[in-house]
Amino acid sequence: MPWLQSGWSQLSLYINQNRIPQALLMIGNKGIGKQQLAEQFSQSLMCFSPQADAMFCGKCQSCILFNAKTHPDYIFIAPEEAGKAIGIDAVRQLTAKLALKPQYESYRLVVINPADSLNNASANAFLKYLEEPTERTCLILITDKPSKLPATIRSRCQKLPISVSDEKLAKAWLKQQGVTEKVELLLKMSQGSPLMAKQLFDEDAVSLRTDIFSQWLKMAKAETNFVVIAEQWNKLDKAAMNLLLLWLIDWVADMIKLSHHRDTAEIVSLDLKTSLQEMAERLDLKGLYKYYDFLLLSRKRLDTQLNRQLMCEEILIQWSVLNHG
Ligand SMILES: [Zn+2]
Repeated sequence: MPWLQSGWSQLSLYINQNRIPQALLMIGNKGIGKQQLAEQFSQSLMCFSPQADAMFCGKCQSCILFNAKTHPDYIFIAPEEAGKAIGIDAVRQLTAKLALKPQYESYRLVVINPADSLNNASANAFLKYLEEPTERTCLILITDKPSKLPATIRSRCQKLPISVSDEKLAKAWLKQQGVTEKVELLLKMSQGSPLMAKQLFDEDAVSLRTDIFSQWLKMAKAETNFVVIAEQWNKLDKAAMNLLLLWLIDWVADMIKLSHHRDTAEIVSLDLKTSLQEMAERLDLKGLYKYYDFLLLSRKRLDTQLNRQLMCEEILIQWSVLNHG
Protein backbone atom coordinates (compact mmCIF):
# COMPACT_ATOMS: atom_id res chain seq x y z
CA MET A 1 0.00 0.00 0.00
CA PRO A 2 2.27 2.72 -1.32
CA TRP A 3 0.27 5.64 0.15
CA LEU A 4 1.19 4.44 3.66
CA GLN A 5 4.85 5.22 3.00
CA SER A 6 4.90 8.59 4.81
CA GLY A 7 3.23 7.04 7.88
CA TRP A 8 5.76 4.22 7.80
CA SER A 9 8.67 6.72 7.50
CA GLN A 10 7.59 8.30 10.77
CA LEU A 11 7.15 4.92 12.48
CA SER A 12 10.49 3.55 11.27
CA LEU A 13 12.15 6.72 12.53
CA TYR A 14 10.81 5.95 16.02
CA ILE A 15 12.40 2.49 15.78
CA ASN A 16 15.72 3.65 14.35
CA GLN A 17 16.09 6.43 16.92
CA ASN A 18 14.85 4.15 19.67
CA ARG A 19 12.24 6.69 20.72
CA ILE A 20 9.18 4.50 21.00
CA PRO A 21 6.11 6.43 22.14
CA GLN A 22 4.17 4.99 25.06
CA ALA A 23 0.92 5.67 23.27
CA LEU A 24 0.32 6.40 19.64
CA LEU A 25 -2.93 7.72 18.18
CA MET A 26 -3.35 6.79 14.54
CA ILE A 27 -5.93 9.01 12.88
CA GLY A 28 -7.30 8.60 9.37
CA ASN A 29 -10.34 7.74 7.28
CA LYS A 30 -11.89 4.28 7.32
CA GLY A 31 -10.38 1.81 4.87
CA ILE A 32 -7.07 3.56 4.50
CA GLY A 33 -4.91 0.80 6.02
CA LYS A 34 -4.32 2.03 9.59
CA GLN A 35 -4.68 -1.47 11.04
CA GLN A 36 -2.19 -2.91 8.52
CA LEU A 37 0.28 -0.14 9.34
CA ALA A 38 -0.10 -0.76 13.07
CA GLU A 39 0.58 -4.48 12.49
CA GLN A 40 3.65 -3.75 10.38
CA PHE A 41 5.00 -1.45 13.10
CA SER A 42 4.23 -4.00 15.81
CA GLN A 43 5.91 -6.88 14.02
CA SER A 44 8.95 -4.72 13.23
CA LEU A 45 9.28 -3.53 16.80
CA MET A 46 9.08 -7.07 18.15
CA CYS A 47 11.35 -8.60 15.48
CA PHE A 48 14.65 -10.06 16.75
CA SER A 49 16.64 -9.10 13.65
CA PRO A 50 15.00 -6.14 11.89
CA GLN A 51 16.40 -4.93 8.57
CA ALA A 52 18.25 -1.65 8.08
CA ASP A 53 15.01 0.21 7.24
CA ALA A 54 13.54 -1.06 10.55
CA MET A 55 11.23 -3.47 8.69
CA PHE A 56 10.72 -6.92 10.28
CA CYS A 57 12.72 -9.88 8.94
CA GLY A 58 9.83 -12.34 8.60
CA LYS A 59 12.01 -15.29 9.65
CA CYS A 60 12.91 -14.97 13.33
CA GLN A 61 10.97 -16.66 16.11
CA SER A 62 9.13 -13.46 16.94
CA CYS A 63 8.06 -13.01 13.32
CA ILE A 64 6.92 -16.64 13.12
CA LEU A 65 4.81 -16.22 16.25
CA PHE A 66 3.41 -12.95 14.95
CA ASN A 67 2.47 -14.40 11.57
CA ALA A 68 0.80 -17.34 13.33
CA LYS A 69 -1.19 -14.79 15.39
CA THR A 70 0.13 -16.34 18.59
CA HIS A 71 2.70 -13.77 19.74
CA PRO A 72 2.26 -13.47 23.52
CA ASP A 73 3.41 -9.84 23.50
CA TYR A 74 0.93 -8.68 20.89
CA ILE A 75 -2.52 -7.81 22.17
CA PHE A 76 -5.38 -6.74 19.93
CA ILE A 77 -8.50 -5.18 21.42
CA ALA A 78 -11.72 -4.60 19.50
CA PRO A 79 -15.42 -4.54 20.39
CA GLU A 80 -16.95 -8.02 20.60
CA GLU A 81 -19.37 -6.99 17.89
CA ALA A 82 -18.89 -4.23 15.32
CA GLY A 83 -20.54 -1.03 16.49
CA LYS A 84 -20.60 -2.10 20.17
CA ALA A 85 -18.49 -0.50 22.91
CA ILE A 86 -15.25 -1.86 24.34
CA GLY A 87 -16.39 -2.46 27.90
CA ILE A 88 -14.68 -1.97 31.23
CA ASP A 89 -14.03 -5.72 31.63
CA ALA A 90 -11.92 -5.82 28.49
CA VAL A 91 -9.83 -2.89 29.74
CA ARG A 92 -9.47 -4.43 33.22
CA GLN A 93 -8.26 -7.70 31.68
CA LEU A 94 -5.82 -5.71 29.57
CA THR A 95 -4.34 -3.71 32.45
CA ALA A 96 -4.00 -6.89 34.51
CA LYS A 97 -1.97 -8.42 31.67
CA LEU A 98 0.12 -5.28 31.31
CA ALA A 99 1.03 -5.34 35.00
CA LEU A 100 3.27 -8.32 34.13
CA LYS A 101 6.49 -7.87 32.16
CA PRO A 102 6.53 -8.63 28.44
CA GLN A 103 7.51 -12.27 27.79
CA TYR A 104 10.29 -11.50 25.32
CA GLU A 105 13.15 -9.02 25.49
CA SER A 106 11.73 -6.71 22.83
CA TYR A 107 8.59 -4.58 22.98
CA ARG A 108 5.04 -5.48 23.80
CA LEU A 109 2.35 -3.98 21.54
CA VAL A 110 -1.29 -3.28 22.24
CA VAL A 111 -3.52 -2.25 19.34
CA ILE A 112 -7.00 -0.88 20.09
CA ASN A 113 -9.25 -0.51 17.06
CA PRO A 114 -11.47 1.47 16.93
CA ALA A 115 -10.31 3.35 20.02
CA ASP A 116 -13.40 5.58 19.89
CA SER A 117 -15.48 2.59 20.94
CA LEU A 118 -14.12 2.83 24.49
CA ASN A 119 -17.09 3.92 26.63
CA ASN A 120 -16.80 6.36 29.55
CA ALA A 121 -16.00 3.75 32.17
CA SER A 122 -13.50 1.85 30.04
CA ALA A 123 -11.84 5.09 28.88
CA ASN A 124 -11.36 6.12 32.52
CA ALA A 125 -9.82 2.76 33.42
CA PHE A 126 -7.59 3.07 30.41
CA LEU A 127 -6.56 6.60 31.38
CA LYS A 128 -5.40 5.32 34.78
CA TYR A 129 -3.08 2.95 32.98
CA LEU A 130 -1.74 5.72 30.72
CA GLU A 131 -0.84 7.72 33.83
CA GLU A 132 1.36 4.87 35.05
CA PRO A 133 2.37 2.86 31.99
CA THR A 134 4.54 -0.26 32.19
CA GLU A 135 7.96 -0.74 30.67
CA ARG A 136 8.63 -1.71 27.03
CA THR A 137 4.98 -1.41 26.14
CA CYS A 138 3.60 0.59 23.23
CA LEU A 139 -0.11 1.22 22.81
CA ILE A 140 -1.56 2.04 19.42
CA LEU A 141 -5.00 3.61 19.37
CA ILE A 142 -6.68 3.63 15.98
CA THR A 143 -9.60 5.87 15.07
CA ASP A 144 -11.36 7.69 12.26
CA LYS A 145 -13.27 9.80 14.82
CA PRO A 146 -10.62 11.29 17.14
CA SER A 147 -13.09 13.83 18.57
CA LYS A 148 -15.02 10.95 20.13
CA LEU A 149 -12.03 10.14 22.36
CA PRO A 150 -11.73 11.98 25.68
CA ALA A 151 -9.27 14.92 25.48
CA THR A 152 -7.42 13.46 28.47
CA ILE A 153 -6.57 10.35 26.43
CA ARG A 154 -5.78 12.25 23.24
CA SER A 155 -3.35 14.54 25.06
CA ARG A 156 -1.35 11.55 26.33
CA CYS A 157 -0.85 10.12 22.85
CA GLN A 158 1.62 10.91 20.11
CA LYS A 159 -0.57 11.68 17.11
CA LEU A 160 0.05 10.13 13.72
CA PRO A 161 -2.31 11.30 10.95
CA ILE A 162 -2.62 8.86 8.05
CA SER A 163 -3.95 9.95 4.67
CA VAL A 164 -3.59 9.20 0.99
CA SER A 165 -0.94 11.75 0.05
CA ASP A 166 -1.22 11.16 -3.68
CA GLU A 167 -4.42 9.96 -5.35
CA LYS A 168 -2.34 8.52 -8.20
CA LEU A 169 -0.86 5.96 -5.80
CA ALA A 170 -4.33 4.91 -4.69
CA LYS A 171 -5.53 4.59 -8.28
CA ALA A 172 -2.48 2.57 -9.32
CA TRP A 173 -2.99 0.21 -6.39
CA LEU A 174 -6.69 -0.22 -7.18
CA LYS A 175 -5.82 -1.06 -10.77
CA GLN A 176 -3.41 -3.71 -9.51
CA GLN A 177 -6.24 -5.16 -7.44
CA GLY A 178 -8.39 -5.52 -10.55
CA VAL A 179 -10.54 -2.43 -10.00
CA THR A 180 -10.74 -1.05 -13.52
CA GLU A 181 -14.13 0.66 -13.72
CA LYS A 182 -15.47 3.81 -12.03
CA VAL A 183 -12.26 4.20 -10.03
CA GLU A 184 -12.80 7.95 -9.47
CA LEU A 185 -16.37 7.46 -8.31
CA LEU A 186 -15.43 4.60 -5.97
CA LEU A 187 -12.69 6.73 -4.39
CA LYS A 188 -15.15 9.61 -3.93
CA MET A 189 -17.71 7.27 -2.41
CA SER A 190 -15.13 6.05 0.09
CA GLN A 191 -13.72 9.49 0.98
CA GLY A 192 -10.49 8.62 -0.79
CA SER A 193 -9.79 5.39 1.12
CA PRO A 194 -8.45 2.75 -1.30
CA LEU A 195 -9.30 -0.31 0.83
CA MET A 196 -12.86 0.89 1.19
CA ALA A 197 -13.03 1.62 -2.55
CA LYS A 198 -11.90 -1.95 -3.24
CA GLN A 199 -14.57 -3.31 -0.89
CA LEU A 200 -17.26 -1.21 -2.56
CA PHE A 201 -16.12 -2.49 -5.95
CA ASP A 202 -16.31 -6.10 -4.72
CA GLU A 203 -19.82 -5.51 -3.39
CA ASP A 204 -20.90 -3.95 -6.69
CA ALA A 205 -21.86 -0.83 -4.79
CA VAL A 206 -21.90 1.30 -7.95
CA SER A 207 -24.95 -0.43 -9.40
CA LEU A 208 -26.68 -0.50 -6.02
CA ARG A 209 -26.14 3.26 -5.80
CA THR A 210 -27.55 3.76 -9.30
CA ASP A 211 -30.67 1.76 -8.35
CA ILE A 212 -31.19 3.66 -5.11
CA PHE A 213 -30.80 7.01 -6.83
CA SER A 214 -33.32 6.18 -9.54
CA GLN A 215 -35.83 4.99 -6.91
CA TRP A 216 -35.30 8.17 -4.93
CA LEU A 217 -35.77 10.23 -8.09
CA LYS A 218 -38.99 8.39 -8.90
CA MET A 219 -40.27 9.26 -5.42
CA ALA A 220 -39.47 12.92 -6.10
CA LYS A 221 -41.46 12.74 -9.34
CA ALA A 222 -44.31 10.84 -7.63
CA GLU A 223 -43.89 7.98 -10.07
CA THR A 224 -43.88 5.28 -7.41
CA ASN A 225 -45.25 4.32 -4.03
CA PHE A 226 -43.19 4.64 -0.84
CA VAL A 227 -44.28 1.23 0.49
CA VAL A 228 -42.92 -0.56 -2.59
CA ILE A 229 -39.52 1.14 -2.37
CA ALA A 230 -39.32 0.77 1.42
CA GLU A 231 -39.88 -2.98 1.03
CA GLN A 232 -36.97 -3.22 -1.37
CA TRP A 233 -34.70 -1.13 0.86
CA ASN A 234 -35.64 -3.21 3.87
CA LYS A 235 -34.22 -6.31 2.16
CA LEU A 236 -30.70 -4.80 2.14
CA ASP A 237 -28.26 -6.03 4.78
CA LYS A 238 -27.02 -3.65 7.46
CA ALA A 239 -23.83 -2.67 5.63
CA ALA A 240 -25.76 -1.83 2.46
CA MET A 241 -28.36 0.06 4.50
CA ASN A 242 -25.57 2.09 6.04
CA LEU A 243 -24.28 2.88 2.55
CA LEU A 244 -27.76 3.86 1.41
CA LEU A 245 -28.04 6.37 4.24
CA LEU A 246 -24.55 7.72 3.54
CA TRP A 247 -25.50 8.26 -0.09
CA LEU A 248 -28.78 10.00 0.74
CA ILE A 249 -26.85 12.24 3.16
CA ASP A 250 -24.27 13.00 0.44
CA TRP A 251 -26.95 13.81 -2.13
CA VAL A 252 -28.86 16.15 0.18
CA ALA A 253 -25.60 17.83 1.27
CA ASP A 254 -24.71 18.27 -2.42
CA MET A 255 -28.10 19.82 -3.12
CA ILE A 256 -27.64 22.25 -0.22
CA LYS A 257 -24.21 23.23 -1.61
CA LEU A 258 -25.67 23.62 -5.09
CA SER A 259 -28.45 25.89 -3.87
CA HIS A 260 -25.80 28.09 -2.27
CA HIS A 261 -24.04 28.15 -5.66
CA ARG A 262 -20.89 26.83 -4.09
CA ASP A 263 -18.02 25.68 -6.25
CA THR A 264 -19.04 22.41 -7.87
CA ALA A 265 -15.63 20.93 -7.07
CA GLU A 266 -16.97 20.46 -3.53
CA ILE A 267 -19.78 18.27 -4.76
CA VAL A 268 -19.32 14.61 -3.79
CA SER A 269 -21.59 13.14 -6.46
CA LEU A 270 -20.37 14.90 -9.59
CA ASP A 271 -21.85 12.17 -11.81
CA LEU A 272 -25.36 13.03 -10.53
CA LYS A 273 -24.89 16.78 -10.68
CA THR A 274 -27.52 17.53 -13.35
CA SER A 275 -30.34 15.79 -11.47
CA LEU A 276 -29.23 17.16 -8.10
CA GLN A 277 -29.00 20.69 -9.49
CA GLU A 278 -32.46 20.46 -11.01
CA MET A 279 -33.95 19.33 -7.67
CA ALA A 280 -31.94 21.87 -5.66
CA GLU A 281 -33.47 24.70 -7.71
CA ARG A 282 -36.96 23.42 -7.13
CA LEU A 283 -36.82 22.50 -3.44
CA ASP A 284 -37.10 24.70 -0.36
CA LEU A 285 -33.66 25.19 1.22
CA LYS A 286 -34.99 25.21 4.80
CA GLY A 287 -36.77 21.95 4.08
CA LEU A 288 -33.55 20.45 2.69
CA TYR A 289 -31.68 21.33 5.88
CA LYS A 290 -34.43 19.75 7.93
CA TYR A 291 -34.35 16.61 5.79
CA TYR A 292 -30.55 16.48 6.12
CA ASP A 293 -30.82 16.50 9.94
CA PHE A 294 -33.50 13.85 9.75
CA LEU A 295 -31.23 11.58 7.66
CA LEU A 296 -28.34 12.04 10.12
CA LEU A 297 -30.66 11.01 12.92
CA SER A 298 -31.85 7.98 10.95
CA ARG A 299 -28.27 6.89 10.47
CA LYS A 300 -27.62 7.05 14.21
CA ARG A 301 -30.77 5.03 14.81
CA LEU A 302 -29.50 2.28 12.55
CA ASP A 303 -27.32 1.04 15.41
CA THR A 304 -30.27 0.67 17.76
CA GLN A 305 -33.06 -1.86 17.61
CA LEU A 306 -35.67 -0.42 15.33
CA ASN A 307 -38.28 -1.23 12.76
CA ARG A 308 -36.30 -0.77 9.55
CA GLN A 309 -39.31 -0.95 7.24
CA LEU A 310 -40.85 1.91 9.20
CA MET A 311 -37.62 3.91 9.06
CA CYS A 312 -37.36 3.48 5.27
CA GLU A 313 -41.00 4.50 4.86
CA GLU A 314 -40.42 7.58 6.99
CA ILE A 315 -37.39 8.60 4.92
CA LEU A 316 -39.40 8.27 1.72
CA ILE A 317 -42.50 10.01 3.08
CA GLN A 318 -40.45 13.00 4.30
CA TRP A 319 -38.78 13.15 0.92
CA SER A 320 -42.12 13.09 -0.82
CA VAL A 321 -43.47 15.85 1.45
CA LEU A 322 -40.41 17.97 0.67
CA ASN A 323 -41.09 17.54 -3.05
CA HIS A 324 -44.87 17.89 -3.10
CA GLY A 325 -45.78 19.67 0.13
ZN1 LIG B 1 11.86 -11.05 12.60
